[in-house]
Amino acid sequence: MQGLMQDVPLTLQMLLERADALYPSKTIATKREDGVHRQTYAQTVDRVARLAAALQAAGVKPGDRVATFGWNSSRHLELYLAVPCMGAVLHTLNIRLHPTQIAYIANHAEDQTVFVDASVAALWQQVRGLNTVRRVVVMDDLTPEGRPGMSAESAIPGADDYEAFLETGGTAFRWPKLDENQAAAMCYTSGTTGHPKGVVYAHRSSLLHSMGVLFADTLALSERDTALVIVPQFHANAWGMPYAAVLTGADLVLPSRFTDPASIASVVASEQVTMSAAVPTIWFGVLQAIRGGEIDPAALASLERIVVGGSAVPEALMRGYDELGIRILHAWGMTETSPLGTVARVKTTVPEEQALRIRLTQGLPTPTLRVRIVTEDGSVAPWDGKTMGELQISGPWIADAYYEPEAPDQRGGHDRFADDDGTRWLKTGDVAVIDHEGYVQLVDRTKDLVKSGGEWISTLELENLLAAHAGVVEAAVIAVPHPKWDERPLACVVSRDPDLTSGQLCAYLAEHLAKWQVPDDVVFIDEVPKTSVGKFDKKALRERYREYRLPDT
Ligand code: AMP
Repeated sequence: MQGLMQDVPLTLQMLLERADALYPSKTIATKREDGVHRQTYAQTVDRVARLAAALQAAGVKPGDRVATFGWNSSRHLELYLAVPCMGAVLHTLNIRLHPTQIAYIANHAEDQTVFVDASVAALWQQVRGLNTVRRVVVMDDLTPEGRPGMSAESAIPGADDYEAFLETGGTAFRWPKLDENQAAAMCYTSGTTGHPKGVVYAHRSSLLHSMGVLFADTLALSERDTALVIVPQFHANAWGMPYAAVLTGADLVLPSRFTDPASIASVVASEQVTMSAAVPTIWFGVLQAIRGGEIDPAALASLERIVVGGSAVPEALMRGYDELGIRILHAWGMTETSPLGTVARVKTTVPEEQALRIRLTQGLPTPTLRVRIVTEDGSVAPWDGKTMGELQISGPWIADAYYEPEAPDQRGGHDRFADDDGTRWLKTGDVAVIDHEGYVQLVDRTKDLVKSGGEWISTLELENLLAAHAGVVEAAVIAVPHPKWDERPLACVVSRDPDLTSGQLCAYLAEHLAKWQVPDDVVFIDEVPKTSVGKFDKKALRERYREYRLPDT
């Protein structure tokens, strides 16, 4: 017997409809150099319709990729809404990558239209060899409010200006009927091997994920909140916060490029922010600024809770914010998991004395998701808090394939996706244990990458570049702990040239990579330790340099 309920397509158009009907006076605030720009949801919905109409008039068709290259802002939010809701696909490009990496990603996704913040226009212009981009629109985030704007042409030759572009669309845009499983957005993530991989979110997965963000036992974002979204909109949908905020009618605060501790404190105070989300590096910076007397903790008085993820939350950070009366919610996720996978809420069945330990785990799977640990011999581990293995995850907002232009609609293929008795699993590359209460605790990762301040650095890319240097015999790159950035890369190099210095090798790498991707130091060793099958034994190197202090720490 079938259920007899309405089969309503779960699309992001529901967000627009609700914002317009229920929360027209709620606001979106964007930090600017000269103050804060505010607009209501009603104004936003109107601008979103204009944007969709302008995109259509400019020839953007269903399924076309529209990319963004910018900071968190109300315009970026308008693109988050207009592009998927008109049936096109939003592709958020990471502005922190090297121009050659950005070109690879934009070409692979076949981006046709790109919206660029004026403050990163110079970066965009360094991106060469774009094969599919036909139109660039500049979003002027530099001109002070109320002054005549800069010309888009002066920022990027041939580009349109966002506000002028909006004027080309009427407000009477008719939103098309969408299939809930059609693509809504794309985001690329660093591959452990080879090139970055594209994750393609569906309308249905994004809508369900937004609901997942609202649960009382997850992030509990609600209409009563004013949410400051510091995690970039180009990182895994800004952890789903923008969509969830619109769905529930929360006030949104978007910091643009002003994410230093003083700017965060000032916008929290001026907007009376109640919750926020960012990686540990950001929150460490704020804590240090408070301790150093640069920020008055009273500025953060309205802040009730902060979502921290992307890297593990250290105990000192949790305790530091507990002392300030600000609750850290530790969350784990990946670009492939939309990203909210687990949240460390303490169950009532957990004894009080265990609460801090539990809050430091990665947490419980969000409702509708399932997790398991698979050991090296392929068996599923018991939830005993001891048996380690790869964390696997399954659920309605977990990726089932990476984007392949040759086979855009096909699932599976890549060895990160597994099928077990009809259940699809994503192999996360994180090594974890699960305790008898269901709390996931990460203990290691199989991904040979370095996570620095929330951004990935490919050790493979560094090793390939180093190996190509005339003075290098072989090179292995490992992550070493860093108090501010969580991890930084350390290059271990076997050199054939006794005069070769760390500085020379770093300068050479800087020619090919973004500055923050270059190792802080190079150590010269006699030989890279190898495993029994002749692979670099990174475990042995990590063990050797566990206590290593980088030059600036
Ligand atoms: P990304 O796809 O760039 O969001 O990176 C996802 C990866 O970041 C995960 O697979 C983990 O390795 C790491 N990660 C994310 N959140 C946490 C966390 N709370 N604790 C430890 N590692 C995390």
